Amino acid sequence: MTEISRKFSDPLPCPAQTNTLPESTPEEHWKHLPPYEVKSGEQFGPVQWRGKCFCGKITYLLKREEPLNAKYCHCRVCRVTHGAPVQWAAIFHKHEMLFTNGASGLAFYSTTHGNQKHILPTKVSCANCRTPIMDEGRNMCLIFPQLIEIEGSSQEQREKRAVFNPKYVRCAVYGIVMMVSPKWSGMENSSVPMNDEGIPIEVEQ
Ligand SMILES: [Zn+2]
Ligand SMILES: [Zn+2]
Repeated sequence: MTEISRKFSDPLPCPAQTNTLPESTPEEHWKHLPPYEVKSGEQFGPVQWRGKCFCGKITYLLKREEPLNAKYCHCRVCRVTHGAPVQWAAIFHKHEMLFTNGASGLAFYSTTHGNQKHILPTKVSCANCRTPIMDEGRNMCLIFPQLIEIEGSSQEQREKRAVFNPKYVRCAVYGIVMMVSPKWSGMENSSVPMNDEGIPIEVEQ
């Protein structure tokens, strides 16, 4: 990896070939990095998914079909910040995401600093309707698949959205990892569930 010189210290790593403007201040630097930078559709590449907040002011694109990973998290932070029994999140590289509308209408909450500055990691929401948009880290972002717009009947939508389903659930209460869709030795639900290595999973009765 080549060392990249940086003109100022900021919490963002400075990847190669960013479109950083020379007059950028540290506070504005992140606006020139994915997923906030301004890019044409051609520069971004083929779009796989479109996401939108509740009020519609924030829209974004994703160019990767399957997330790197996905999870259901029911830790207390996720339950409180989403007002839901569980957070459903899918992980993408930040460069696979692009805001197409409303990037200036985002609100940030730095969990480590407890303020609304753009300091990573940060929770990102719509400043208008307050829909959680993503949890942003240095290189990755956790998006929320319920925001992805999918056309068709509700059955078709469910099927297409299944690409964001996690394969495992980490249970915050018991600290165990459960498979969401186990493999079966024979017929589903009437044979022995197996793990990824094909070893039967012991199910406590
Ligand atoms: Zn909104
Ligand atoms: Zn959590």
